[in-house]
Amino acid sequence: MESFDVVIIGAGASGLFCAAQAGYRGRKVLVIDHANKAGKKILMSGGGRCNFTNLDAAPKHYLSNNPYFCISALKRYTSSDFVELVDRHALDYVEKAPGQFFCEHSAKDLLQILLTECEWSGSEIRLNTSVQQITKNEESFTLLTNAGSIKCNSLVVATGGLSIPTLGASGFGYQIAEQFGLSVLPRRASLVPITIQPAMKEKLSTLSGVSVDIEATANGVSFKEPMLFTHRGISGPAILQISNFWQPGDDLQLNLLPEIDPELHFKQVRQDRPKRALETELTSLLPKRFVELMKQDFSWLSKPMAELSNDQLAEITQYLTHFDVQPNGTEGYRTAEVTLGGIDTDQVSSKTFECNTVKGLYFIGEVLDITGWLGGYNFQWAWSSGYAAGQYVQ
Ligand SMILES: Cc1cc2nc3c(=O)[nH]c(=O)nc-3n(C[C@H](O)[C@H](O)[C@H](O)COP(=O)(O)OP(=O)(O)OC[C@H]3O[C@@H](n4cnc5c(N)ncnc54)[C@H](O)[C@@H]3O)c2cc1C
Repeated sequence: MESFDVVIIGAGASGLFCAAQAGYRGRKVLVIDHANKAGKKILMSGGGRCNFTNLDAAPKHYLSNNPYFCISALKRYTSSDFVELVDRHALDYVEKAPGQFFCEHSAKDLLQILLTECEWSGSEIRLNTSVQQITKNEESFTLLTNAGSIKCNSLVVATGGLSIPTLGASGFGYQIAEQFGLSVLPRRASLVPITIQPAMKEKLSTLSGVSVDIEATANGVSFKEPMLFTHRGISGPAILQISNFWQPGDDLQLNLLPEIDPELHFKQVRQDRPKRALETELTSLLPKRFVELMKQDFSWLSKPMAELSNDQLAEITQYLTHFDVQPNGTEGYRTAEVTLGGIDTDQVSSKTFECNTVKGLYFIGEVLDITGWLGGYNFQWAWSSGYAAGQYVQ
């Protein structure tokens, strides 16, 4: 039977990074993946350019049942550490938004860095390999795979979340956790577009492709970013961000004019330019196609401001600051960037990522109940958790 010090299941972001760290420590490391290619999600991420970290990757940008769990790992391997690594590999990258780093050319360049690190550290990667059974005795684990049995001292589960099954996502990591008696917290698709009620979807169909800078609020959390109308519902950064905090049935407030106090603004325009039509004023603030749609609900938009009452201005203000999109769900794992929830961190060491009750069993990355905001935070979690476990696997 083949024998390794460390076997890592999952050749994604956290698994590859952990492999390199353990390899550099002289461990004999094997990474296995059932997919035919390593790092498929990395290649697809950030619109093909991978938003690989965020300089502001602090614990406040992560959701978990235990908000303290991520602190130690994020501190021990920071976004600056990762930037230093990609600098050493001469990666060309750009800071698209403050602190948000993307590959300048292609996510392939970032994946190549991880593969090079694995190669330099002597770690082996085997693709098209699936695990049928895992058994454990006092000293080691035995994995029965489609390519024979493999023995290891440390088993690292880096199988990621459930999003985008066509990229290799599976619930295998959760199954392993359950096999060894760990609890798995409820999971749901997140960083995901929100769908809307059929009648509303029909009404908004002419807006597909229109983007509006909004403020989305749910359960006391707000994001001021662009929202995109799609043929299925609403998407764009503001919606993906709020999907971490919103669930069907919760209130979702969409303010389409977050930068001004619309009622005050409209009253001022009525005073300064009484002949101006409200429609014209709205077109200076919002996309034309959206204003066209508003005319279905407000027949008086083409009237001069001077003819509009305070009540009418208040009504328009309410409509725009509490735009009722009638959300009814999300697009689910098919398009979600992450899985919120996962393996309960209470049973995992935040220092080593080893399971408290099963010696030699480690969990890293998205399979754990740690979910970052949109903006490079999820990859930083993969690097930080992979790095931490990589220091301790035997
Ligand atoms: C479309 C998209 C865009 C994204 N963009 C960004 C971004 O720009 N920035 C950011 O920070 N995050 C982004 N994310 C999230 C980020 O990709 C993940 O959080 C990150 O990849 C998680 O790393 P991981 O190692 O835990 O899991 P993954 O990278 O998903 O790796 C898991 C690996 O395990 C393998 N695997 C699964 N089941 C099995 C099994 N049964 N047997 C063997 N192998 C198995 C999979 O094939 C996969 O290779 C994006 C996600 C998606 C889907």
